[in-house]
Amino acid sequence: MADPGDGPPGAGLAGLGVSQGRAAGPVIRMAPPPVLPSPRQVADPAAEAAAVVKALESVTADLRQRVVLAGGGDAAEILDALAMIADDPMLREDAEAAVRDGLDAPHALDAAFTHHRETLAALGGYLAERAADLDDLKHRAIAACLGLPMPGIPAPGHPYILVAEDLSPADTAGLGADVVALVTEKGGPTSHTAILARGRGLPAVVACMGITDLADGTVISVDGKTGQVGVGLTDDAVAQVRRSDREERERLANSSGPGRTADGHPVKLLLNIGSADDLRPGAEGVGLFRTEFLFLDRKQEPSFEEQVAAYTEVFARAGTVVVRTLDAGTDKPLPFLGLPPEPNPALGIRGLRVDRVLPAVLDTQLDAIAEAARSTGADAWVMAPMVTTPAEAAGFARRARARGLTRVGAMVEVPAAALLADRLLAEVDFLSIGTNDLSQYTFAADRQHPGLADLLDPWQPALLKLIAACADAGRAAGKPVGVCGEAAGDPRLAPVLVGLGVTSLSMAAVCVPSVREELSQHTLEECRELAALAR
Ligand code: PEP
Ligand code: MG
Repeated sequence: MADPGDGPPGAGLAGLGVSQGRAAGPVIRMAPPPVLPSPRQVADPAAEAAAVVKALESVTADLRQRVVLAGGGDAAEILDALAMIADDPMLREDAEAAVRDGLDAPHALDAAFTHHRETLAALGGYLAERAADLDDLKHRAIAACLGLPMPGIPAPGHPYILVAEDLSPADTAGLGADVVALVTEKGGPTSHTAILARGRGLPAVVACMGITDLADGTVISVDGKTGQVGVGLTDDAVAQVRRSDREERERLANSSGPGRTADGHPVKLLLNIGSADDLRPGAEGVGLFRTEFLFLDRKQEPSFEEQVAAYTEVFARAGTVVVRTLDAGTDKPLPFLGLPPEPNPALGIRGLRVDRVLPAVLDTQLDAIAEAARSTGADAWVMAPMVTTPAEAAGFARRARARGLTRVGAMVEVPAAALLADRLLAEVDFLSIGTNDLSQYTFAADRQHPGLADLLDPWQPALLKLIAACADAGRAAGKPVGVCGEAAGDPRLAPVLVGLGVTSLSMAAVCVPSVREELSQHTLEECRELAALAR
């Protein structure tokens, strides 16, 4: 149910809150690609040609406006490149020629873009990979021609709440500053869309049935903690939601200091980041640097130099950083790897397994991490995702240590790794438990599936038992075992994880103050009692 005061009684929708914070504003839906209508008999070729030109001009203008809103960086560069393609005179001439051949404006645009796409695809290599961009532009041009909303992330020029059936990680990464909250019909609590929203401190609700039925411009409130969406708000209710969000953020912003239980037992509170932009003061370092987030849009492998620059930017600003090597595959495809589609991607070549087919990628990345660590003097820890056996951990550790990296670890995301945590720790210096994937693989439940959230709930005793097994192995070996999945940012679960023996919690910056506050209210003994009850 919506909060009282959010709108008329009962006027609300509910989903899963995945990124805390509250926002209110008008909805804008991300439009689906347009469907081409049946071809028309052309009565006035000049009018059709003018419609073609107008559509291309409007796409170019829309993209240029988005370049300005993106305010620089990779997103602006990508949008600028797309604007240049839409403005290409050859493309326009092709479409005009198709009109002369008797096609109506939307079909002429379709023919011109398809022709350009085929030409690029035939050239192979990098240009062939750009061919998908032409599909995106084609959809935009046809939508403009038909008077439909532009597909892709909207850029209305004012703050709004983005509503979509689903968002890809690349969509989420490219959101402009005008998006004040996200609501999607699909997606799960540990999907990468949720993670990226949390990284940006953007309130987000996923698995919200019915949200895409709301008309554009409907004013709603979004509560990213409870998952409540209030519909049809008055101006006063909007102002109240914004005020309470501001006050809560201010209250939590005043919390500071290292993580401690009430009796002083230290628990490192670390940040999960995807780039230097996610760094915030108030944590004790970075516990998970998801390096693949830097390169989601890339069609070509980032060079050694480019990687050194990206890692240096983070290392120079955060003293201690746990860098995860590229975790590609399944819901985080990295196009530059050129991996073939698989029938079961979550069980296929992903994470460290990419090394089986493309070993040079890990070599270059480890070289770049080592170079950035050397030049900044940062306390750089490195770990591999999706480690499954002690042999994999040993192979990774050998290659990292050969480059002078001294703190080498393994993520525990597969039940097999948790069951042999002691043997993994014989090979590496620390473990970091990725509860998002560890839940997915323990419960055989797709982490993106909105209907399986109960199985993906980190309070599930089977998951807690695997975490306890890792923590026990860490205690016996005298080595740190942290949690870096989304469970680490849940303030209610934090004392339980500490009671199980976890030594650090790594989370989105927005979660740090509430986790710190919660831990400070329980002694270690109380945490152990809570853990015993929960597992
Ligand atoms: C995890 O699986 O818990 C994790 C931290 O990695 P990611 O969410 O990036 O897959
Ligand atoms: Mg993972």
